[in-house]
Amino acid sequence: MLRPSFVGSFPRADVPLDPSLPELALIGRSNVGKSSLLNALVGQRIARVSQTPGKTRALNVYLLDLGRGGLGVGRYSESGFDSHAPRPTPHAFYFLDLPGYGYAKASKTDRAAFQRLLTGCLERARLVGVVWLLDIRRTPSADDSAMQDLLAARQTRVLAALTKSDKLPRGERRPRERTLAATLRLDEEQAVVTSARTGEGVAELREAIEELIRETVS
Ligand code: GDP
Repeated sequence: MLRPSFVGSFPRADVPLDPSLPELALIGRSNVGKSSLLNALVGQRIARVSQTPGKTRALNVYLLDLGRGGLGVGRYSESGFDSHAPRPTPHAFYFLDLPGYGYAKASKTDRAAFQRLLTGCLERARLVGVVWLLDIRRTPSADDSAMQDLLAARQTRVLAALTKSDKLPRGERRPRERTLAATLRLDEEQAVVTSARTGEGVAELREAIEELIRETVS
């Protein structure tokens, strides 16, 4: 089976990635369920689900491949692609997983480091957009609004994944999706109700990501 792979953990957002491929940033408040959803998306435990929120300051990079109808990739090593593994296809891309933001106990240094990573990521030449995770139950925080302003100002393409839907009764999910989309000034097509626990919306999110990548490579 083709496998997604962890490329590395980098303190700076201007890290050169080889081969050069489209990139998608993953952003969300600390504890929003980002690692869990990433694992659900790729179908394996690639990201570490955090025990202590707000700990990492680095950018974690993953290589994925949408070739052959699924999320899977060739093996990647320090020296590049393993020659026995599949080559990057036109649908291969990187996930740039940013540290969770908005952790109340984060130090000034952490916050500044996060801002640098974030703006650095948004400036990357091959960034096609961001997958922005928001807890479906929570009212967007001041940090979320600041993120929305930044993304809107930069005209960054956004897919909003509303996480932990299993914590809401089924009937409340769509209304909540509409409310959150309106609050964050997103189109409803940009939002996907998801749960890493039940798998709700995971295939839909994967398709939306595939679509975004496909649009940029075609
Ligand atoms: P991160 O800090 O954003 O990477 O979030 P994690 O993936 O580490 O998850 C934070 C906490 O939320 C953990 O306790 C997870 O078990 C829990 N969690 C994550 N996704 C879900 C979900 O879809 N449903 C529920 N009920 N809990 C979740």
